[in-house]
Amino acid sequence: MPKIKKCDRCLLYSHDPHLICVVHPAGPQGDSCLDFREDPNAQAEELWEPEGASYYNGELILQPQQRLTQQQQLELLDTHPMFTGKCPQCGYEFDRDYTARVHWDCPNSECGWMDDSV
Ligand SMILES: [Zn+2]
Repeated sequence: MPKIKKCDRCLLYSHDPHLICVVHPAGPQGDSCLDFREDPNAQAEELWEPEGASYYNGELILQPQQRLTQQQQLELLDTHPMFTGKCPQCGYEFDRDYTARVHWDCPNSECGWMDDSV
């Protein structure tokens, strides 16, 4: 069944393998369709922004943490001073007010652990 890329975002697209759309049951002629009707819902889905991500020039930019796998995120929860209050490398305990910190590089000069996840 010939369908064009746009079909996926079209209101008339049937999502049926045996029928392309209501107006062109066998698919549109050529690679553009005069009856294309942008599906507002499909559009909304496309522009969905995960938490912490944003659009720049139409491109979805993910914050570094979003690229981590779930496993890595769990590890981060277990090891990151933001959550544990301790340096994962030397165990240095961060100040009591560590929840307000933005940078998490280890203050212990002999350790030198640098936070590269935030
Ligand atoms: Zn350290």
